[in-house]
Amino acid sequence: TNKKKLSLTGRVILGMLLGIMTGFIIRSLFAETSFVHEYLVNGLFDVGGKIFIASLKMLVVPLVFVSLVCGTSSLKDISTLGRLGGKTVAFYLMTTAIAITLALTMGNIFQPGAGADLTAATTFASKEAPSLGDVIVGMFPTNPINSMAQGNTLQIIVFAILFGVAISAAGSAGERLASIFSDLNEVIMKLVALLMNVAPYGVFFLMAKLFTGLGLDAIFNLFEYFMVLTATLLIHGLVTYSIMLKTFTGLSPKVFLKKMEDAIMFAFSTASSNATIPVTMETATKRLGVNNKIASFTVPLGATINMDGTAIMQGVATVFIAQAFNIDLTMSDYLAVIMTATLASVGTAGVPGVGLIMLAMVLNQVGLPVEGIALIMGVDRLLDMIRTAVNITGDSVVTCIVAKTENEMDIARFNDPKAGEKDE
Ligand code: ASP
Repeated sequence: TNKKKLSLTGRVILGMLLGIMTGFIIRSLFAETSFVHEYLVNGLFDVGGKIFIASLKMLVVPLVFVSLVCGTSSLKDISTLGRLGGKTVAFYLMTTAIAITLALTMGNIFQPGAGADLTAATTFASKEAPSLGDVIVGMFPTNPINSMAQGNTLQIIVFAILFGVAISAAGSAGERLASIFSDLNEVIMKLVALLMNVAPYGVFFLMAKLFTGLGLDAIFNLFEYFMVLTATLLIHGLVTYSIMLKTFTGLSPKVFLKKMEDAIMFAFSTASSNATIPVTMETATKRLGVNNKIASFTVPLGATINMDGTAIMQGVATVFIAQAFNIDLTMSDYLAVIMTATLASVGTAGVPGVGLIMLAMVLNQVGLPVEGIALIMGVDRLLDMIRTAVNITGDSVVTCIVAKTENEMDIARFNDPKAGEKDE
């Protein structure tokens, strides 16, 4: 027999599939068996899954801060920083705008909400979309410790950049500190690698718990919405990104997607771009060959401001709700949707379910009934998982584009199928 051990990715996939199966089995055979629910679903699975997510999140703040300080302190001059920032933000905005436009187009072609017979009882409170000024002012911390305590990624990024710039300007004191930060970075990346080794179990627990309770009946009622949205997410994830990667870097989209496996699965099972940052960073630097200088900046920034999958959901959902309530959207409504969705995605961090809150802002902006959200809430959890996978794939495409065009990419590593792969 073949004694070859499964790679980490293989084991994570196995954990995920077994988890989904276990969830389904419990749903259909043990729905009434209280000890199964008490000790397994709400016991072991719940606890195991929560510990897994907690340990991922635990790494985010130290990782973002330390790696970004390392990255900026090794930059030669400040003008590089400005160019890097401008380029990254421009690409992030561009991918998001493409994503919503694609979603609005698909929604209008396939009309998922036409003739839908809908009764929305629940009310849903909405917040105003933040203004651009608020978003920018909000990026500057008054107290960096507080930003870290609250996990405010944008504020941590701003502080880390300033700190890194100061290190590189501080002569020999700066050099000493830079070497400490670079050691710290190694240690934290080691921690990420350690955590990834238990990922198959973590993913199993998360999936088993989730699929035991997932209301799949809603999918049948909202079949068209679900299908149009999933198709759009797939088109964007596979086609748009491949075209972008090929056009701007000449690198192989196939190699890229293959190497994204781990990060995609983490994003899928945690439904949080933010919690996936450690894995996205590891993938970008170890597997895709992106220099830490670039990845330490683009990955956390992307996890916070770039959510293409979420934007796609908002586009399709807006069209769906408008059709379901028989409301016609004008061209300027569509433009408002694109603007609001982009701004909302900049101002909101990538955590599970936040997309729905942003959707409320968008609906508000174009005068659609916010209650419409109640219609699609039933299927949102599963869609959240898929769109989070798209979100972090988008972050990684832009990371590669920025790295390649800045000449900060190790092409040999990118093309080496084994690079950064763990199969102990
Ligand atoms: N869960 C998504 C993310 O973390 C955001 C969302 O669409 O709800 O990227």
